[in-house]
Amino acid sequence: MATTGPSAEPRGPRRRALVTGASAGIGAVFAERLARDQYDVVLVARSRDRLEALAKRIRDERGMEAEVLPADLTVPEELARVEKSIAADSRLELLVNNAGFGTYGPFAELDPEREELEIRLNVIALVRLARAALPVMLARGHGSIVNVSSLAGWQPCPHNATYGATKAFVNSFTEALHEELRGTGVKVQALCPGFTRTEFQERAGIDTSALPDFAWMEPEAVVEASLEGLRRGEVLCVPGAHNKALAAVTSVLPRAVTRRMAGAIARRFGM
Ligand code: NAP
Repeated sequence: MATTGPSAEPRGPRRRALVTGASAGIGAVFAERLARDQYDVVLVARSRDRLEALAKRIRDERGMEAEVLPADLTVPEELARVEKSIAADSRLELLVNNAGFGTYGPFAELDPEREELEIRLNVIALVRLARAALPVMLARGHGSIVNVSSLAGWQPCPHNATYGATKAFVNSFTEALHEELRGTGVKVQALCPGFTRTEFQERAGIDTSALPDFAWMEPEAVVEASLEGLRRGEVLCVPGAHNKALAAVTSVLPRAVTRRMAGAIARRFGM
């Protein structure tokens, strides 16, 4: 059987992966794919029923262990429960910090409570779970963390300001950790998808019907690119040729230009 996991398969007990936001979208695909790659999985999100259904499918179809850990990661006590579970998990080989959501619209009109929850989930929970996982991984000398970011983190995002800023945080944080972890055997990656067909846009309440088909990726392709990128030690993983091209252009244009372009695109698509 080909080894398709992100780092060399350790001898001994089976590897485990914990995926946040595993009840839908990219997280659910990560969980299924990792189970296929012979990982036992721990599934975290708020929707217990959806997690149970996925766990059952993984057990039945893949024969792997699948544990369900329902938690709202914006609630400190529930986040602490997941941190504790991670810190005590000597088999944790991969943490996928995937749970996240976006808010759209003129910032002055957005609900401040929801903006705060967005920062709690996309930033605080991600940081705390990474902090919980690293000591165990460092002690073992192997393990990986995928922090799911976004192309939105590559430039300021007018009408999507808080979301873009949370993802810019994730990119910077992950790149810094990568340098700290050099030579330890522990890998980190910021996964930066563009538009991906999941529940994300619907939850954010944006109409994407005007977006052309070529702008979209399927979550399976995003997950494949992430795991392949981990194997190659890619720190900022941008899945898809069209997204790579956009990221490359964004990286070389002056900031003043990219933020104006991002504002014009947001207005064009009525965000
Ligand atoms: P999705 O289909 O909406 O899935 C989001 C997941 O996060 C769900 O499992 C949801 O489950 C979970 N979640 C939401 N709030 C939570 C909370 N408070 N506590 C715990 N779990 C919570 O969206 P997705 O596209 O797969 O998003 C996954 C990641 O990809 C996010 O970080 C997003 O920013 C990033 N991303 C997505 C796109 C895109 O176009 N789809 C593009 C770039 C980046 P429950 O509702 O059950 O809690």
